[in-house]
Amino acid sequence: MKKVITLLVVCLFASLTFAQVAKQSPDLKPDGKGHGNKVDNGATRKLRTSNGISYHGGPVMLGTVTAYYIWYGNWSGNTAESILPDFIGHEGGSSYYNINTTYFNGSGQHVSNSIAYGGSTSDNYSQGTALSDAGVQAVVSKAINNGSLPSSSSAVYFVLTSKDVNETSGFCTQYCGWHTDASINGKNIKYAFVGNPDRCPSACEEQSASSPNNNPGADGMASIIAHEFEESTSDPDLNAWYDSRGEENADKCAWTFGTESTASNGSKYNLTLSNGSRWLIQRNWVNASGGYCSMSH
Ligand SMILES: [Zn+2]
Repeated sequence: MKKVITLLVVCLFASLTFAQVAKQSPDLKPDGKGHGNKVDNGATRKLRTSNGISYHGGPVMLGTVTAYYIWYGNWSGNTAESILPDFIGHEGGSSYYNINTTYFNGSGQHVSNSIAYGGSTSDNYSQGTALSDAGVQAVVSKAINNGSLPSSSSAVYFVLTSKDVNETSGFCTQYCGWHTDASINGKNIKYAFVGNPDRCPSACEEQSASSPNNNPGADGMASIIAHEFEESTSDPDLNAWYDSRGEENADKCAWTFGTESTASNGSKYNLTLSNGSRWLIQRNWVNASGGYCSMSH
């Protein structure tokens, strides 16, 4: 049922944007929120591939990419603070994240299967409990400017909000997370918003009764973090890899999981990382062999 609602929202939006495409026939440009905004892309260089996703000339993130977490709001006593570093800390090197190495820049340099967890900081509601998109950026700026986190263009900064925090541009109704980039303190900074889906399990959580790490909110966030990280590294400035609908690689496989196994607590999982940890993570689009959703490459 939860997925019906989610898919319904997505499909309504997609049909709306499809209509615009059919009439005016531009490509859609991703806005990092899993759907495209129509833009005048007359000057955009397009390079078609036969894998269902196209390269548009922008950079990809090369080499080891660092993930930083900003715990926004009240996370005290929540096991997410150990679960989510464990996930990103072991995702690099997996056959799952290896899918992202099928994405490359104009010089043929590919994304690496290498992720570093760079640590975290906390933000005690500096922007209140209702964040705008600008408020999310302000949280990232604050963490960098006050030295809580290093300033790096080779990193993705995740603003992780607690259950009581809303993102007012559409969290729980239009998206479960998003990513973008901005110039912060003279550097191009990539960052993402991922809210706690315990706020809206029906829209943003694949399983809410039990989960592989006994925290449905955190397990739900792991899947969304994986999605946004894949898009951030293959399309960091929203001008590299996306399809004619404005969908980035992970968007093309959103809320699909492939073959699932059942854990002893009854929850489902489809990914086991090198430390034996188990996760239910949405699939990603392989940019090879015609293109397809997969859990490994
Ligand atoms: Zn997406």
